[in-house]
Amino acid sequence: MALEVVLATHNQHKVAEFQRIIGERIAGVTVLAYDGPSPVEDGTSFAENALIKARAAAAHTGRIALADDSGLCVDIMGGAPGIFSARWAGMLAADEPNVRLLLDQLADVKRPDRGAAFHCSIALVVPDGAVPGLAAQESVAEGRWPGSLAYEPRGSHGFGYDPIFEPEGYEVTAAELLPAQKNEISHRARAFEALIPELGRVASGAA
Ligand code: IMP
Repeated sequence: MALEVVLATHNQHKVAEFQRIIGERIAGVTVLAYDGPSPVEDGTSFAENALIKARAAAAHTGRIALADDSGLCVDIMGGAPGIFSARWAGMLAADEPNVRLLLDQLADVKRPDRGAAFHCSIALVVPDGAVPGLAAQESVAEGRWPGSLAYEPRGSHGFGYDPIFEPEGYEVTAAELLPAQKNEISHRARAFEALIPELGRVASGAA
């Protein structure tokens, strides 16, 4: 069985990561980069934004499409920055100002109340006619990686909020984990695990 899916991202690293994770679990699936237009991500949840991106890629290419959306949710902030994680300190903010603003906002919050979790939603959209005999369908898989927030950044791996996120059960931050370690246990890995049965069903329907 051979199945091609487009990944709604312009980030080649994500394409390689999706290909590796899916390739290890389902034979014959090739992940293709998507180079079409990016839709406005005006959803109100990670799942909605992932669906918006996957639907746009499926409509533009006529192929099965995947898209992910993720971010950091801080308990005491009611889940913020959440879907605003990438632009917490401003529309064009880089990782460092985003992290600094969040640390400043939480400066007076003590340990037991510094709980947070990374979330990831991965949407799968099968458009009508993409695969003969396979009905149009959509699904979303979710992954959550719980932990708490450090007072200062530590570690040099990863990106975004990794230097201040201490995963539950670890005394290091996500930026102090080796990338391969993080990729095994992260919110994205967990969302992938949840997605695999659905993708497997689509792949076997396409066989
Ligand atoms: P995206 O949806 O994967 O582009 O992620 C949106 C934003 O969430 C990123 O710009 C980061 O600020 C944050 N984020 C998502 N995943 C991670 C992660 O694994 N580590 C650190 N920050 C992340």
